[in-house]
This record gives sequence, structure tokens and C-alpha cells, in this order.
Amino acid sequence: MLTTYLTAHVALPVVDLARRTESVHEFRLLDQSQWKSQAELEELQIQRLRSLLIHAGEHVPYYRQLFAEAAFNPEHVKDVDTLKSLPVLSKQIIREQSTKLLADNAAQYQPRPHRSAGTTGQPIILQMDRKRHSVAWADMYRWWSAGGWQLGEKQFVIAGAALRPRQLSGMKAKLYSRLNNFEDISSFNLTERSLDQFLLRLEKHRGPVYLRGYASSMHVLARHAYERQWSGSVKAVFTTAETLFPEQRTQIEKALRTHVFDQWGCRDGGISAFECDQHHGLHLAIENAVVEICRDGQPVPHGESGLVVATDLFSYAMPIIRYEVGDVATYATSPCACGRGLPLIASVQGRVSGFLVGSGGRRIHGEFFSHIFWEAPWVKEFQIVQDKPEEIIVNVIKATDPPPGQLVELSQLMEEYAGPECRVRVEFVDTIPPGPMGKRQFIICRIPS
Ligand SMILES: [Zn+2]
Repeated sequence: MLTTYLTAHVALPVVDLARRTESVHEFRLLDQSQWKSQAELEELQIQRLRSLLIHAGEHVPYYRQLFAEAAFNPEHVKDVDTLKSLPVLSKQIIREQSTKLLADNAAQYQPRPHRSAGTTGQPIILQMDRKRHSVAWADMYRWWSAGGWQLGEKQFVIAGAALRPRQLSGMKAKLYSRLNNFEDISSFNLTERSLDQFLLRLEKHRGPVYLRGYASSMHVLARHAYERQWSGSVKAVFTTAETLFPEQRTQIEKALRTHVFDQWGCRDGGISAFECDQHHGLHLAIENAVVEICRDGQPVPHGESGLVVATDLFSYAMPIIRYEVGDVATYATSPCACGRGLPLIASVQGRVSGFLVGSGGRRIHGEFFSHIFWEAPWVKEFQIVQDKPEEIIVNVIKATDPPPGQLVELSQLMEEYAGPECRVRVEFVDTIPPGPMGKRQFIICRIPS
């Protein structure tokens, strides 16, 4: 189709120019490299790891000191196992050592600040290389192409801020979506009416329908389509940002007559893993990151679950080495039949952000709240708890005192969203206890759906 062709050959290169990335070029590279053997890919990974570590030892004060103390010589790194002699990098260390983690030649990597709450409600600021930005997009193109999507094809997106560039708003955001050939609806406000309208738009679309969004939002749409006995079909559903539960997958595939391609991405650690048409797990992009699955900082055997420790191979301005991202995952024990050399992650747990319940049973995506707290530098950590429909409690550990009036402003904004019958209460606390496996859940909703 003309639009697809124009998007791939004109609009996407324009987007690349505007945001100074090379995502189409990087995608071509990733599209080919995935078919190399695992041994070849591991060789590439170790070369990239070695040069990153050498750079960190030469240019980054935090690592210069760390390597000296641990008598660690990056030149001698022969495999990823060598990494385990270094300590893990926690969010706490990143917050405390942020200036010492910056390379003395950071400017040449043209970094941009990236403020992240991750999935755990502890905001941090990282500096992200221009290259990392390109690769992050290329990773997504590769994931979508595993589901049959071709560069430039239209995608219908149910998303909040996490799936959209946060610095864009209004007309710019609209133009951005148009150039990418995305058609959006907000996941913050999924009403019967908006879902009906959305299904109608899908029906009217000529050509294959590709859907993308949070697992929970896709599930809400699927249940709605099922209730309406919707007769359309969707070529592929791309889910991300949350754990996709098996029942959700089954219901989405049945109601929308489709296949689900899940993804696990964590931009903080350079992690990207995507599902192929064999649906046996998620292929980990080892060209871009080293992912260790650890207990007490030490890797566990494949097949066992543990905390994810990631080393981003394309972060030179602010190297992120052995970073504990907060997710829990498991490596698969057998390879995939599709022929890709990228190893498989069998499962990722603890990515639930989920929904809260507003006035009249309205579902509010939890990410709406993380979006609000991203913007507040005085928030060190937060957790949102809802035990009853008429009350949402936000537990906050303060970094500093909030500016005058801001607390009231935030509460009002949240109440506006949650609706007139729902109160929002912010409470200052000293600690927020972690959940199972040390993973912090930032949304806890105990109201059955
Ligand atoms: Zn595969």
C-alpha cells in the first residue's frame, strides 16, 4: 500500500532526521543479525562488552575506582561470566553517584536525559546515548516484524505515556503518530463508548490490522470485543510493559482471532526481548545487552528464576554495568525452532502495573500515576494502594519537601481522573516494603475486576 511505502521510505527517515536517530539503519542490521548462530552472536556481544568496559575504566570515575579496588582488568574479559566479579549497580547507587557515573567524554555520545520510574516506582535519571535511542527503536521494529508487520505498516495503539515520547504533546504528538503511521487511543480512559468506536475503526481499516499496547489494555479490548460478538480479526497483537498472563493471551487470541507477540523491554538496561511465531518464549537481543539472571548478585542456572541484572552495550555517556532493573526472569533451557540465534527467555514476572478502579467502576491504567510522579523530583519512591473503590492511597517516600501547593495540585489532578466519588490521599512514609523476590510493585489494587 502507498501509505506503507511512503511511511517506510519517506516518513520514517524524516522521523529519524528530526530526532537525530538512525533507527531504520539499525533495524536493517538487527534484522540480519538475528539469523546468525548463537555462538556468532555471543562473540559479537563479548567484543562489545569488552570495549564498553575498557571505555568505562578509562573515562568513568565510578568504574575507574571500582575496577582498581576489584583488581578487574577489562582487557582480560573473555566471556560474560567474568562480569560476576563486579558488584551489581542498584538504583540507589545511580541516585547517589550520578555525577561519578558520567564519562568525562560524555558529550561525544550526544546523550539525552531519560527519567525513569521503571516498573518499581523509584524514579532515576539516566543519560542515554544517541545510538541507544536508535537501537531502542530498531529493537521494536524487529519485534513487530516477527509478527508479520512490515516497516511502515499501520499500527493501532492503545497506550499511555510509556509507549509514546513524553516530551511531545498536542499537535507535535499527533504529527509524530501520523509520520510513524500509528493510530492511538489513550489507555487512561477505556470506556464502553471509546472501545466501541475503536472496534469500528479497526473494522473500517483496509489491510491487515496490527494492535499494540499494554497486556491489560489489550485484554480489556478483547473482553469488550467478545461481549459485542465482534466479527473482525486482527493479524497480530503486540503486548508490552506488563506481564501477559496465559488467560489474557487465550482470551485476546480468541476474541480478536489473532496471535499475540509479547515483548519485554527495559530501556534503562538496554534490554529487549521479543516473541517469534513459535511462541516459545522471548528472544533476547544479545547484540545490545548482557542479561544475567541472578540471586544475590550471582547468576543462576538456566531454568531458574532470579533478579535481572543488565549491562547496556550501547551506553557510553553513562555506562550501566550490572544494573539491577527490578524485574524477575528465567532463561529457557532449550533453543527455539525458528532458527534465530538469539537465546530465549522463558518468562518474565513482576511487570504488573495494572489498573485502578475509579468512579462508576471505570478502569484507570496505573501508568497514569507513574507519569504524574515522574514529573515530581521531590518523590523518591512511591506506591499506590487501593483497597476499596472510593479511596486510592499514594504512599510516598520524599526526597525533599514538595514545593508549596504541589501536593494539593497533584491530588486534584488524580481525583479529576479517578472521578467524583473517589478520594485520593497522599501519605508520607519512611519505607515501602518490597514484594516477592525483592520486586517492588508500584500499583496494588485489591478490588476484584
Ligand atoms: Zn523463535
